[in-house]
Amino acid sequence: MPEILRGAGVSPGTGYGPVRTIAGAVPEPPAGAEHGGDAAAERETALAALDAVAADLESRGARAAETGNKDGQDVLNAQAMMARDPGLADGVQAKIEEGTAAARAVFEAFGVYREMLAGAGEYLAARVTDLDDVRDRAVARLLGLPMPGVPASDEPFVLVARDLAPADTAVLDPAQVVAFVTEEGGPTSHTAIIARTMGVPAVVALPGATGIADGTPVLVDGTAGTVRPDPSEDEVAAAHAASAARASALEVSTGPGTTRDGHAVPLLANIGGPKDIEAALAAGAEGVGLYRTEFLFLDRSTPPSDAEQEEAYREVLEAFPEGRVVVRTLDAGADKPLAFLPAPGEEPNPALGERGLRMMRRHPDVLAAQLGALARAAAGRTAKLQVMAPMVTDAAEAAGFAAACREAGIEHPGVMIEVPAAALRADDLASEVEFFSIGTNDLTQYACAADRQVGGLAHLQDPWQPAVLDLVAPAAGAGIPCGVCGEAAGDPVLACVLVGLGVTSLSMSAPSLPLVRAALVRHTLDECRQAAAAARAARSAEQARTAARAHLPALATLGL
Ligand code: PEP
Ligand code: MG
Repeated sequence: MPEILRGAGVSPGTGYGPVRTIAGAVPEPPAGAEHGGDAAAERETALAALDAVAADLESRGARAAETGNKDGQDVLNAQAMMARDPGLADGVQAKIEEGTAAARAVFEAFGVYREMLAGAGEYLAARVTDLDDVRDRAVARLLGLPMPGVPASDEPFVLVARDLAPADTAVLDPAQVVAFVTEEGGPTSHTAIIARTMGVPAVVALPGATGIADGTPVLVDGTAGTVRPDPSEDEVAAAHAASAARASALEVSTGPGTTRDGHAVPLLANIGGPKDIEAALAAGAEGVGLYRTEFLFLDRSTPPSDAEQEEAYREVLEAFPEGRVVVRTLDAGADKPLAFLPAPGEEPNPALGERGLRMMRRHPDVLAAQLGALARAAAGRTAKLQVMAPMVTDAAEAAGFAAACREAGIEHPGVMIEVPAAALRADDLASEVEFFSIGTNDLTQYACAADRQVGGLAHLQDPWQPAVLDLVAPAAGAGIPCGVCGEAAGDPVLACVLVGLGVTSLSMSAPSLPLVRAALVRHTLDECRQAAAAARAARSAEQARTAARAHLPALATLGL
């Protein structure tokens, strides 16, 4: 094993613990597999496996409840009941008596339930995934394979995976996971975004990560993007000391965002729903700069009702009575597929396909329903509601969106600047809407023609690329308020550069707020401008970073 493994650091901080790897999919046991002839013994093996799966799920449920995750316990207990279902046991027994091997018998018996559930309406159909998980656990046990999904552990661990699915991360307890390491994923993949939202250090795009043996202690540095297997005690102590020093500098980082000379830069939070409000408030967010509404509806096969939407929006508006809440309309497609808004047929390049606002041309009713729910949620609230569209390309699209907003009674329409064409013609778009918000994740993806989901292109998915900064400049200079809500805003050094380019607010995952606030208040607007000019004059992302830092002398006091 090499001394140190390098990937892309996407969520800062250090984490130390033993590796636990998410196992891959459990294969279907071959059709026609037969047991050796002792049906009674085979039946006993099968039923014991189901029983063990149920017991394991119940004990995971009890652990979830201890950490206050009552909903998690309910789901796990319901799964345990599926494993203990007497009808299922009868089905398994009947198959075994016909000669079928235990693993295949379990697989087929689950199949009968699966079909019943799948055809039984939306709520029950959604349980098919839970049922499949129970089946896979039983089959894995019978075939001697590792358990699928996030492994159980009695001690905090470093979670290693090829990539993380939203379903894997939903049940994670941040107190148990000390770091994420994945083979796939770029700096703007949703693994990275989730890691930052949870405040867990993370390294992505690390080749061979899943080859690290389970149980190996590793030291993960989410700032440097490194993973050191079997570190010495001194190395672990030094890493913990550095993060403790930074933590104490951050404790005094409070209040509204400003440069040292008093130039106000509101610092806002990126959220995926009401569940993220608490962390945003705790980190001192002055409002919400990006409400990713599609995160509310990721696992739905039908559109959410008007009332449901209104409630989810109202809760957020009420949490920031004196602030602003910038809501993004559904950004379905590409890296954020929504089951109830499928792409129109096979798209060879989903990132260049009908995603975001483009999809709403086919579904004007979905957009109108969302805008209507937003307008009703804002009625009578003091928070300022601003609504923006994702993936806008030109002035005509901006004008169309503004008209839809006006019709729904939304007073402050805006657009995201994510497409290079929109950035280059920002002046045209600025006359149609009230504000811009630059999505640097997609802007970088499109400027550098590097799919954000391809781990091997992490070096090109870097918002420090001078070409990306060249695209930020015209949007920030178009004469209307212009925030940044891509992950670039959460990089404390780049945040200073963005302010130097004329950006008027910054929105990021809650855990990034204190460090950005601390970096900004230590520098003047003029220093930020000089850093921005130096970065744009550089010829590579690396040089841009170095050049900017030379004009931001107080970064060192933050250990940056
Ligand atoms: C972006 O593209 O920068 C952005 C904020 O949107 P998302 O990451 O949700 O695509
Ligand atoms: Mg985007």
